[in-house]
Amino acid sequence: MRCEELRILISDYLDGELDVEVCAEFERHVAHCDRCQIVIRTTRRTISIYRQRPLQPVPDETARRLREALRALWEKSLDF
Ligand SMILES: [Zn+2]
Repeated sequence: MRCEELRILISDYLDGELDVEVCAEFERHVAHCDRCQIVIRTTRRTISIYRQRPLQPVPDETARRLREALRALWEKSLDF
């Protein structure tokens, strides 16, 4: 599995919706890939912040900015 493929699967992974096999492959990749670990950690932290405020749905604008921030983080991590 490559980083690009993994990035597409992150939200499914964090929701526990990956197939067992895909999940195992995902975790094998993450175990030896620092930049994917960073992206996952950041994504998980962001999700938990929103889950602490379940009565406030995420506005489209916030979701868009979040996606951009994650993409910027991802692109920066490619420079390692
Ligand atoms: Zn990776």
